[in-house]
Amino acid sequence: MSYLIVNEDIVLRESNTSAKGAGLFATRDVEKGRPVIRERPLLKCENLPVIGSGRPTVASSLSQNKLQQFARLPAGPGHAFRVPVEPRVDVKSHFAAGNGRLMNTVQYNEIWIVTARCPMVGFHTAAVSHSCSPNAYLCYNKDTDSLGLFLVRHVKKGEEITISYFQDDYAVPQSVRARRLQKWNFVCTCVCCTTNSDMSDFRRMEIKRLFTERNQLDIALSMHHIHLAPQWGGIAQREVNYVWDIATCIRMMIRHMKAEGLYGLAMTWVLVDYAEHCVKTGDLRTREAVMEEALVIREMCLGLSHPSTLYLANRTW
Ligand SMILES: [Zn+2]
Repeated sequence: MSYLIVNEDIVLRESNTSAKGAGLFATRDVEKGRPVIRERPLLKCENLPVIGSGRPTVASSLSQNKLQQFARLPAGPGHAFRVPVEPRVDVKSHFAAGNGRLMNTVQYNEIWIVTARCPMVGFHTAAVSHSCSPNAYLCYNKDTDSLGLFLVRHVKKGEEITISYFQDDYAVPQSVRARRLQKWNFVCTCVCCTTNSDMSDFRRMEIKRLFTERNQLDIALSMHHIHLAPQWGGIAQREVNYVWDIATCIRMMIRHMKAEGLYGLAMTWVLVDYAEHCVKTGDLRTREAVMEEALVIREMCLGLSHPSTLYLANRTW
């Protein structure tokens, strides 16, 4: 089997189950929180023009080295990832005007990254396969201009490294995920899509429902402040009830997210939201524990030096 050694932890090799014909595999047991890949993005798709007119713009924005790496990426489900290193290709004819290969390569390999606020393509990270309950998280650090692939769970030797291709869109049900994955001609066989799909769908629907309920309660609380405050003598107790109800919604969301293994950036937002409501309910001990948990997960997803991690670490109340 042909392979490409990425670093001491990771090898890129062909896989029978991978969406792209190849995947990233651990060469030894690796602990969570570890950055298994860090690389400069090949392309940031923030202002990518539409197909057709976009081709010359994309090509001219890439160095020859990057174009060589691009030529080794699959341009669709029919193209296997070429492992290991191919001889240098004639980039000019490979991405000839009108053959659409460059834009197909971009579209097939780009992944939306919330920390970049745009889709990106990285050479090694383009090979990472999808799972709805993944063991890794892909982030972008603007300060270092790097993509980082961080483990959110311990990984055993030989295990495939996976991210969710919709890693911050966490509450999507199985049928919608399956439709979205058709772009990669990929049928997900993770537990959330197979043996556990009914329970998984229920939990994700609950997360969505609770999120809406939490926001509605928040609106009701503000309306209470604006319109009802002068008329109600017992306002303090009413406010406390709203805050407790909101805190209960968020706590249940966290429980479902953990059960689904959704240890992404989104979980840290929900944890911080919960911590803020613990301040309002006066439960300072729980607030400390929840903030600590949010920080640990953010470190796991983004690394210690990411601005979002530092923001959370230095946050005062
Ligand atoms: Zn799945």
